[in-house]
Parts: sequence; C-alpha cells; structure tokens
Amino acid sequence: MKSIQEALDQMMPAFSPVGVARSSIADAFGHFLAEDIVARFDLPPFTSSSMDGYAVRLVDVARASKESPKTLILLGESRTGGTPPPQLAECTAMRIFTGAVLPDAADAIVIQEDTSSDGSHVTIFEAAKSGAWIRRRGSDLSAGEKMLARGTQIRSGEIGILAAQGIGSIDVQRKPRVAILSTGDELRDIDEELVPGAIINSNAYALAAMIREAGCEPVVLPNVPDDLEKTIAALREGLAYDVLLTVGGVSVGDYDFVREAFDKVGIAAGFWKVRIKPGKPLIFGMHEKTPVIGLPGNPMSAMVTFEALVRPGLRKMLGDPKPFRMRHDVLLANDHRHATGRLELARARVAMQSGKLTATPQRLQDSGSLMSWVAIDALLLLAEDRATFSAGETVPALLLRDDTGSAASPFA
Ligand code: AMP
Ligand code: MG
Repeated sequence: MKSIQEALDQMMPAFSPVGVARSSIADAFGHFLAEDIVARFDLPPFTSSSMDGYAVRLVDVARASKESPKTLILLGESRTGGTPPPQLAECTAMRIFTGAVLPDAADAIVIQEDTSSDGSHVTIFEAAKSGAWIRRRGSDLSAGEKMLARGTQIRSGEIGILAAQGIGSIDVQRKPRVAILSTGDELRDIDEELVPGAIINSNAYALAAMIREAGCEPVVLPNVPDDLEKTIAALREGLAYDVLLTVGGVSVGDYDFVREAFDKVGIAAGFWKVRIKPGKPLIFGMHEKTPVIGLPGNPMSAMVTFEALVRPGLRKMLGDPKPFRMRHDVLLANDHRHATGRLELARARVAMQSGKLTATPQRLQDSGSLMSWVAIDALLLLAEDRATFSAGETVPALLLRDDTGSAASPFA
C-alpha cells in the first residue's frame, strides 16, 4: 500500500493547467497569470510632490533655519489634475499639493508645517534636503520593465498595478471544472423524502465547497445507485470535465462497483489504497488527460483525501507554483493515541496559547462524524509508526485557512 507521499508523487504529474482564458482584471482575483506583463509607461508617470507644501530650489533655501528664515516669492500653485506648472526662477517657490506635478528646476519640497505664507510670499524655516518629499517619475516602475511574471497569483496588489498601467484584461489559467459523482442507493438530496435507511448526500455539498475554496468550479452530477451499468454510464458523462471525482463505492463491499466501473470505461488504473486514516480505499486513475479520483464515501474520508491528495493537484491545474499547504508545527493540547500503520490526519482546532499555536484534536475522529469537521482549523499529521502522542509535544499540521502555500509537499 502506498504512503501518502508516494500517492502524491504519482498523482501530481496527472494534473496540468487546462488552458488560458482572457479575463477582465476585476474578475481575475485569485487566478494565476498566464503571461508576463511588461510596464507600458513609467510609474509614477510624472514627478510629483508627496506632501502638501512648497516646491523650492535647494540653492535658495540651503541655509534656511528658524533663526535665519528665507523668504521666497510665490509663483502660484501646482494642484493635482491642474495644468503643468511653470519653471521656478531664482528665489521663487510654488505652493504644491500631494500628487501635483513638480515644477521644473524645483529639487525639494518644504512641508507646509515648516513655512508661513501671506499668499504672495512664503517664509521657509527649515533647510530642505535634496529630493525631499519628491516622487520621481519611473521610481516605482519603468516603461518596458517586467512588472508581473507568469505564474503570479492575481490579488489586490496585482489588480492595483495592472489598473494603474491601464491594463484592463489579462491572460489567466482557466479554472478547471471538477465533476462530483456520488454513488450509493442510500443517497437522497436535501429536498427529497428521507425514507428509513436513507441519508442526505452531504458529501456533494461539502466537496463542492472545498472545490470552490481551492479556486475551481464544481459541477455536481446526478447521483448513481449501486449498480455497475449505471455507474459506467455516469462515469462516461463525468469524463467530459477536467477532473472527475467519484464518491463512495470504492471499498470491498458487495455493492462497491466503482473500481470495476473505472476498468470498464477504460480509466487506466493508477493505484488503490493509501496508508492514511481516514481515507484508505482511495482510487486514482487517468482517462486520457483527465485525472479520475474515487474518494471513499465516509464523509471524513472524502474530505480528508480531497484536502490531502486532490486539492494540491487542483491548485497545480490553476497554475499555482505553491500548490501544497504549508506545514506548521503545533503544540498538542491533549494526549492522543491511534493504531499504527497509517498516517493519521486528525481534525483539530487551533488557537494561539502563550505565543504558541496549540492544537486540540476533535474528540471524535470517526470517519463518519460530520461534526468533527465543524469549526476546525487544521489537520494534524500523526506519524504512522507511533501509537501515542503526548500533550505538550510538537506535531506537524496543515493549517486549513493558510493561503501562503508551499512549493514543497508537507508530507515529504
Ligand atoms: P461507501 O464508501 O460507499 O462504502 O460509503 C461509506 C459510508 O459513507 C456509508 O455509511 C455511506 O452511507 C456514507 N456515504 C457514502 N456516500 C455518501 C455521501 N455522498 N454523502 C454522505 N455520506 C455518504
Ligand atoms: Mg456506498
């Protein structure tokens, strides 16, 4: 049986970006850039003041002080959005506001607080320093400079600089469409009658939310009963999407048909079973370029295996160069024991205690316990070769709300 890292080593190459789409910058949040972007013009596009005050020539005010102030003739003002100001002449100054064009020959700004003015003259009480409070044209970015590299995630900062450069649309990696196909005679939808023995297909909802959180687009297909022919037909439809997830029916029960159905539709067998808890009976296969993952049906098995084994692939498809969660060390708040032989991914709540990230595992770690994923922050990685873990020791964890990302697998 494969370790989780061996499973990832086999699965990750199967996930590749699904193509490029043009996007308005407003809609590009969270996407990954599929092109290099070069600056169209200098930024700032003109030299301006970064304070309200007076534009001066250094030579005129080099020795100004409180004791020996220097009075200059006011040439008028430069205001934001105003017409370009005239050049400063000897012993003149110009009233200037933040963001307004610096007049030629000016080489410093004296802030308003260090001056007094009667409207026709200004008296300077501080010697200016060369370049003080001046924002130079091109100091942020020069025309022709590479400003954003392919692979950059578009967030607020990237959208801001693109807008400042007048770039309204960009090429981004397209979001993969991820189909969810639930199997099981017992499954009903929320609005269906819950006859005895039936349960609501909660996995389809939870997994759709996880797919969305991963930045992809979920497509929930109609449920299929535990029937080989119907499963085969449904798989054929599901293969039209970029990734196909099936849920349930991957174990060794008499009504578990998914593995056989994979085979019958020509999904090339990758592997079956991973040494993790929960989630052992996961199947991975490929159909042409489509990764197909058979998740176990127990809700926690489905969610844990999605998080640990599917989400990194989806992030890679989106173009994320850091598709894995970062691995953090956390302090264990309680003693914990488990059966050895499989890496346990334990649901836990995390809080900062005395400056240390401290994790409290959920009391119930049963793979069917939907409540055990409520309000959790982390999956603890509890080693397969140890049976007991003690309160106060440090264990590795994946923080589920950390979006920093990591280039290396946390399981390596
Ligand atoms: P299976 O993997 O099909 O053997 O199912 C294992 C357990 O998970 C059973 O108790 C199923 O009823 C339950 N289960 C399977 N699929 C779902 C689903 N889509 N939503 C909620 N529970 C499920
Ligand atoms: Mg089933």
